[in-house]
Amino acid sequence: MKDKSPNALRAIKALRRQIAARKQAQQMLKERDEELQALFNKAPVCIFLLDGEVRLQKGNSTLTRFFGHNQEKMLGHRCGSAFRCVHSLDDPAGCGYGPHCKSCIIRKTVLDTFHTGESHLEIEADMTTHYNGRSERRVFLISTTLVAVMDRKQVLVCMENTTERKQAEEALRHAEKRFRTMFEEAPFMYIITRNLNGAAIIVDCNELFQATLGHTRAEVLDQPLDKFYTEESRHRLYNGGGYQKAMTIGLMDEERELIARDGRIIKTLLRALPEYDAHGALLGTRAMFIDITQHKKAAEEKQKLEAQLHQAQKLESIGRLAGGVAHDFNNMLGVIIGHADLALEELDPTRPPAANLRGIHQAAKRSADLTRQLLAFARQQAVAPRILDLNDTVAGMLKMLQRLIGEDIDVAWLPGAGLWPLKLDPSQIDQMLANLCVNARDAIAGVGKITIETENVVIDEARRAVQTDFLPGEYVLLAVSDDGCGMERDILEHIFEPFFTTKELGKGTGLGLATVYGIVKQNEGFINVYSEPGSGTTFKIYLPRYGGEVVKAAAAAPLEIPKGCGETVLLVEDESEILNVSRAMLERLGYHVLAAGTPGKALNLAKNRSGAIHLLITDVVMPEMNGRQLEKLLKELMPDLKCLFSSGYTADVIAHRGVLDEGVQFLQKPFSMKDLAFKVREVLEQE
Ligand code: ADP
Ligand code: MG
Repeated sequence: MKDKSPNALRAIKALRRQIAARKQAQQMLKERDEELQALFNKAPVCIFLLDGEVRLQKGNSTLTRFFGHNQEKMLGHRCGSAFRCVHSLDDPAGCGYGPHCKSCIIRKTVLDTFHTGESHLEIEADMTTHYNGRSERRVFLISTTLVAVMDRKQVLVCMENTTERKQAEEALRHAEKRFRTMFEEAPFMYIITRNLNGAAIIVDCNELFQATLGHTRAEVLDQPLDKFYTEESRHRLYNGGGYQKAMTIGLMDEERELIARDGRIIKTLLRALPEYDAHGALLGTRAMFIDITQHKKAAEEKQKLEAQLHQAQKLESIGRLAGGVAHDFNNMLGVIIGHADLALEELDPTRPPAANLRGIHQAAKRSADLTRQLLAFARQQAVAPRILDLNDTVAGMLKMLQRLIGEDIDVAWLPGAGLWPLKLDPSQIDQMLANLCVNARDAIAGVGKITIETENVVIDEARRAVQTDFLPGEYVLLAVSDDGCGMERDILEHIFEPFFTTKELGKGTGLGLATVYGIVKQNEGFINVYSEPGSGTTFKIYLPRYGGEVVKAAAAAPLEIPKGCGETVLLVEDESEILNVSRAMLERLGYHVLAAGTPGKALNLAKNRSGAIHLLITDVVMPEMNGRQLEKLLKELMPDLKCLFSSGYTADVIAHRGVLDEGVQFLQKPFSMKDLAFKVREVLEQE
């Protein structure tokens, strides 16, 4: 070795260095290769290279893991036989790229990339994999890129398994759809709000919310909730702390009013709960509104009906009570008046006891007037229409009206000239006037004026065209006007309805105008009302002119009390004092009286009597049988018998709805001797 030249030694050293450097380079290459292999094989996506014939040149372990072959078996094979898409299984005879085969997507894409050099991204393919020995359908997202290694063109394909992600997305979509359907189909209005600077902004609502309010979805979304609330509910939302409560502990069945586009108010029950995001941060609320408008209306109507029923029952029982009291009270008054009359007959009218007796007589008459009013209220007063002059009737009432109205209100009376006669019960005029004047009084605050006018009016066709419910003809007008508060249109529409009142509980019954209307209709007349808020009210009542002949009986009235000519009168009355005093009066008037305390006794008297009985005067309500039944039985014995009924109030046996049956003669109790004398004569002289 000693003869080795230094040159040779240098060369050997250099060679050694070269070898070491190469080894190091080889080592580095090996490491890099292993690294790349690891990256290639461990990547969670299938990566492989295909040539221009779509044959597998190289593939990573993920590919073999998914498709269950070993690498060698797959290499050099077309992708259609190496790993199959779902449809290529259905097409085993073909090349695997049949026209319906989805793996054509791979083929087409790969070929396109191969020939054009263009990459493709995220192409979806449905494939059959053999994972862990199981065949499964999976969805892959495929991308292709052209790579050239030493002038050899290949296509690099990446296939990412997206099956699970797709399934999760699908499940999410499904759940979303299901909950959306539940949200939309909920039988209540449902909204979701977000809190924006302390205000509730609607970010979602169901169909029912929009439909109920009559808005489109666009008109609701992004709007503040208070926009759809009434003033009061709006106040409760923010000032009343409702929103704060909804966002903390929630609201349970609170009443809120929504306002629809057309102004309708929708009454609802509200439930609201706070809503948080996934991290527990407060977002806003979920609010459910249950429409209870109809329910509330029904409940209110029920309550109203119950109140009306209650009121009607109250009036009915007051009526019955009044009738009952009036019956007995009238009997007493009858006895008082009768005895006073009889005593006055005996006395010299100039001597002092006569004046005292006249006082008693007058007081009893005044009391009788009171019971008459009580009966009118109870509508148990007999209606006995008669021919009258409206001016006389009104004039006779003025004093009473002024008392009713009070001193602060002036009553102006403007009677029309030459008024036509009317035929109706004067007490009905009293009743109408009293009701209208009391209403006028109530409408006047403080000092005011009521005007009562009468006038003849002819309704012709021209007038009728304006007032379609008027029948042409001649009428007597009774008008009552006031300068009180007047009425709004919506009140005017209802005033004649029974129980309609704007007055506070206990003040108004709502029956005043209903009664007036009833009386006007009963007498075939018309009623009209003119009213303006703040400008007073006028009621105009048109009553038909009486067409028959007017017997001016009243004018020729200051007659002598008519006496009897010994006619026989059968007097039936279960109240013995009335029986006695009536008998005494009749005898004083010159009649022959057969008195009976019961209908049975009356029948016996009639059967055993040989002579004629000219007139039956009977009470209406009696034990055993009523007056009408007694009349029928007696008429079987004596067909020509005339009959006069007398009672403290009208019973249904002689009147229907208060109107006396046709042909029935009636004498209201209590009566004076004068009343009795005229009535008995009238009945006896009737044809
Ligand atoms: P009531 O007087 O008991 O309320 P009515 O049937 O007499 O019942 O009247 C019904 C309603 O009609 C009254 O509550 C009132 O609102 C209205 N009304 C009647 N008359 C007048 C009037 N002259 N002026 C103003 N409003 C009236
Ligand atoms: Mg009234």
